[in-house]
This record gives sequence, structure tokens and C-alpha cells, in this order.
Amino acid sequence: MFRLSAWRLNRTLKNQSSLLADKQLLKPIQLLANALDLESISVNIYEIEPVNGLAAPDGKIFITRGFYNKFTSGEVTGNELASVIAHELGHVALGHTRRRMIDFSGQNALRMALGSILSRVLPGIGGIVANVLSNLLMARLSRADEFEADEYASALMIKSGIGVKPQISMFEKLEKLSGNNGNLQPAWLLSHPKTNKRIEKIQENVSKWDANK
Ligand SMILES: [Zn+2]
Repeated sequence: MFRLSAWRLNRTLKNQSSLLADKQLLKPIQLLANALDLESISVNIYEIEPVNGLAAPDGKIFITRGFYNKFTSGEVTGNELASVIAHELGHVALGHTRRRMIDFSGQNALRMALGSILSRVLPGIGGIVANVLSNLLMARLSRADEFEADEYASALMIKSGIGVKPQISMFEKLEKLSGNNGNLQPAWLLSHPKTNKRIEKIQENVSKWDANK
């Protein structure tokens, strides 16, 4: 199940994407690569409009055409976009992308197990309660992943010499975009925790690291 859905997703992404070759944008990405002791980091452009960043189960990093357009129009800077790529690299490095695909199939098993237990105690509504509980649990799990990926991104942005300022301003800009019409709705935020919480967390991490210097 995991292999099949991962394969499908990888294939869709491959068919609808191309390698990012924008020299301006490759500069901050190269700074991230240097900080990781990598020769380079390949980023792909996924040909869809919604503003989003994505790490595929095979570890490839994507930003959408819509997100890239925000860079070419000057609405977001290269460093800000690099912070999104750093966040997605975090999901890959921390093993979230693989686990998440497993979650999809694991979720149903959990729902059924909970449902059969709860149906005995709560006849009639056991299944509904099981649904609510497993949704809550999955949401909690993915929220924890997001904060971890943000923390990884902050550390990487600092190590690369860019710093966390663009990471924070990126969140502020995305938040503003989400207040606009549906066309500009940044999908990247929908699957993620509240922006102000994330900014708070970044600042907390930075002061913690500064204190330990
Ligand atoms: Zn994320």
C-alpha cells in the first residue's frame, strides 16, 4: 500500500515537473547545500498554481510554479523561498515523508481497531468516536512534524549564513496571502500549524541556541 501510493505520487510529480534552473534562486539554495556539505541540492518546479512546497516520499524537493511566480514577481525573496526549501529538506532528513505515507494506511487500521473496541462500550456511536479520535491523533502527529521541520530549517538557515529572518518574514507574507481571494490561498499553510505559533517557536529556538553558545 505504501509502495503503491508512493510510486503513484512520485510518478505524478515527475511527469508534471522540471528542474529549477533560475540562477538567482540557485544562489541561496547553494548556501544551504554548502551548510550540509552537499555539492548541490536539486529543486523541482511542480506545474501547479497553488502556492506550495513539498517533499516527495523519495526525498525529492518541489516548489510549485505558483510559488516560483511569487519569486519572479518580487513578492517573495530568494532567501524566503530558501527557507521553504530548508523546511522541506527537514521533512526528508527527519524521515517524515516516509512515515507520513505509512500513516495513510496505518490510519485506517487504527480507525478500525478503535471502532471495534468503542462499539462495544458505546453501541451505535463507537465508529464516529473512533473517527474523531484518530483524526485528532493524526493532526497532532503532523503538527509535531511541522515544528520539527521548522526547527531543522532554522538551524540550517543559521548555519548557511542566511539566518532566520527570511523564514519569519516568509510566514508573515504567506499569512497575508491567505487573507486574499481563493486563487492566492497558499496551500502550504493549510496543512500546517498556526503561523504565529510557528514564528514564536522559531524565536524560542533561536534564543535557546544563543543561550547555549
Ligand atoms: Zn511541512
